[in-house]
Amino acid sequence: MAANKQPSPQSTPASDQHRRRQLVALAAGLLVAVGSVVIVAVSVGSSGKWDPEQLAQGAAAEKPKMELEAQARAAAAVIEKRKEEIKAENAAIDAVLQTTGIVSQAGPENKEVALTFDDGPSSYTGGILDTLKKYDAKATFFTLGNQISEFPLPLQRAVAEGHVVGNHTWDHQDLTRLAPKDIRGELTDNNDAVTGKNLPAPKLFRPPYGAVNDLVIAEARRAGMLTVMWSLDTNDYKLPAPEAMAAQVLAEVHSGAIILMHDGGGDRTTTSAALPIIVKGLRKAGYKMVTVPQLLLDNPPAAEQNTVERTPVA
Ligand SMILES: [Zn+2]
Repeated sequence: MAANKQPSPQSTPASDQHRRRQLVALAAGLLVAVGSVVIVAVSVGSSGKWDPEQLAQGAAAEKPKMELEAQARAAAAVIEKRKEEIKAENAAIDAVLQTTGIVSQAGPENKEVALTFDDGPSSYTGGILDTLKKYDAKATFFTLGNQISEFPLPLQRAVAEGHVVGNHTWDHQDLTRLAPKDIRGELTDNNDAVTGKNLPAPKLFRPPYGAVNDLVIAEARRAGMLTVMWSLDTNDYKLPAPEAMAAQVLAEVHSGAIILMHDGGGDRTTTSAALPIIVKGLRKAGYKMVTVPQLLLDNPPAAEQNTVERTPVA
């Protein structure tokens, strides 16, 4: 729902965009390769000796790389350990897809809710993961494909810590304005970015701006994904006071709620500050915070969903 600042010109065909993305990725790869050669050359220095200062800088650059590799290994181990659970979650999603392509809330059976974060990963995601970890809460992150190469660490960490990654398209376009093949490109490019990090292909999709029509839902379904809206909007993109945002969530919460927040796409200091208050309040009120797949398993959603109004496609 947040007004993202990077909409591409509507006139550019998505197939061209897809080719451009591939070229950009290729160019980035070349730059990294050239950069490595430059680092080696600079480290040796003109005298041909190792420069300790340059070496220290090289070691500093190695640290995030090692952290990323460690998180990627941890994520792979969690995926392996949760193999059977993931299978059950995917089966639950497929079962929902048999009756409806879109959900905005789950059933009311158990006192559980799903926290969801859109538009990341970003520089705010790590802090949000810290809060979730501290209070033993799980969440679902609807990520943008074009953010993943810049922020792979929080993505890997989210999976390693038992959260779920969903698809929020490649670059946050309004899919109701795109042709079917371009919608497919937006969904596929996101999935490729996630699976390119050796993470499970998303089974859940959230449309940018909450903009859906029957065609968008059908394309997501064709890609094996359930469209996930929300039943509680924190309006965090309007930057309310953190206490007010938390009070609103606690006033509106219900069993089976899917709660909309953002961990990217703008200034998320409000969301980051409100989250501990929200999580503590929900726990105190007896709610367990689970991922969307877990919520669908525990509280099967009704086939008829009171979703936001959408434009029927002829
Ligand atoms: Zn969004």
